[in-house]
Amino acid sequence: MKAPAALHKTRILVYHSISSSNTHYVSKPLYMTGPAEFEEQMRYLKDNYAVIGLDEVVRGIREGKSPGRDRAAVTFDDGHADSYSAAIPVLKRYAIPATFFITTGFIGTPGYLTWDELRRMSGEGFGCGCHTVSHRRLTPLAEGEIYDEVSASKAVLEKELSAGIPYFSYPYGELSPGVISAVKRASFEAAFSTVDAPCGPGSDLFAIPRKEVLRQPFHNFTAWLRL
Ligand SMILES: [Zn+2]
Repeated sequence: MKAPAALHKTRILVYHSISSSNTHYVSKPLYMTGPAEFEEQMRYLKDNYAVIGLDEVVRGIREGKSPGRDRAAVTFDDGHADSYSAAIPVLKRYAIPATFFITTGFIGTPGYLTWDELRRMSGEGFGCGCHTVSHRRLTPLAEGEIYDEVSASKAVLEKELSAGIPYFSYPYGELSPGVISAVKRASFEAAFSTVDAPCGPGSDLFAIPRKEVLRQPFHNFTAWLRL
């Protein structure tokens, strides 16, 4: 029997590192998904979900329509070098769109993406979003400092990639009315948190929920995705 449309969900996943040995995550190994596990997860998404890009997610929220089937979107935070070397080949193999939220102050530093890689990713149709300049916690900062973090990272990405950067993701998933107002003032169209919930027609465009993928066995991943 076909499920009523209202029961279908859109799940936005957020990955950090696609690696088993990223030295940035020695103390937080759950933020690393191994390349083989990542491929298994992408194959599962492709077989069981309509995998869509963030433009379609945002359009769906704006139009207020429930999706006709379960949907998923794939995002990455921080801009690790393995986004290019390990994630992109798998995403291409399964024709999965994805958006990479970049901390611009990390670009070109050891372990992070270079501008050359970002230009190639953007040229191949992958989305780049903004994840501040320095990855500081925004909520304790003064209004001007928040605005600088948010707007300067947008400006440099737009200039270097010659593309509009409409989406923002909050470092540590932390947001407050002051942070949201800076993101709106910097002319972003939508912003993504790490609140673990499905998103849909009633979602706030400046607090779109995403599910953080933490390293786990495959049978856990498939059950967890359905929660
Ligand atoms: Zn981050």
